[in-house]
Amino acid sequence: MQGDFAAHAARLRELGVESVEVRTVAALEGCDGLILPGGESTTQLQFLQEEGLFDAVKKFAADGGGLFGTCAGAILLATEVKNPAQASLSLLDVTVLRNAYGRQMASDVFFGSSKLTDGLMEMVFIRAPVIESVGPGVEVLAEYAGKPVLVKKGNVMAATFHPELTQDTAVHRRFLELVRANPRKSASVAISSLMSARRQRGAVRSS
Ligand code: GLN
Repeated sequence: MQGDFAAHAARLRELGVESVEVRTVAALEGCDGLILPGGESTTQLQFLQEEGLFDAVKKFAADGGGLFGTCAGAILLATEVKNPAQASLSLLDVTVLRNAYGRQMASDVFFGSSKLTDGLMEMVFIRAPVIESVGPGVEVLAEYAGKPVLVKKGNVMAATFHPELTQDTAVHRRFLELVRANPRKSASVAISSLMSARRQRGAVRSS
């Protein structure tokens, strides 16, 4: 609906992965992974609720679909949102403070440490939230100024910066690994029920 979805799609295309823009529940159906881009989380939350996507995204995650939220997307995924408190999908055990880096870091490029790269990683922050705390089992994949800025648990990953706006594809590569490692249950059910229907019609011969 808003944010840099075109830049995310470009990064994925560089990695040989095609994407679709998801604005409806139906569009989400055929997907293995979902990126929640930046923007304004309050507006995005309202949009998700109005379109029935709030529940659909929660089900998508419960099914094992890979999720990656950047900035406002990370706010939507957090279990707890402060400054001010706001409802969320509650899919990643972190507490975030909206717009909490202060004026000197309102919107700029910084370099932080990351497990995904040998050297420092370039990070674009735009009115970013601070990840105040992470729950048990949440892996911190990158940090800036002593705070986690890229975190992951299971099939859900979140960044407070914008990896789609830099040339390095390391974060998107990590997300694709996560998607491949967490196949959606309903997707495989759909494939296997198609296979058995074909088998019944004799279209697939067992050898
Ligand atoms: N400040 C925004 C919010 O609180 C997030 C900014 C962004 O996504 N770049 O929703």
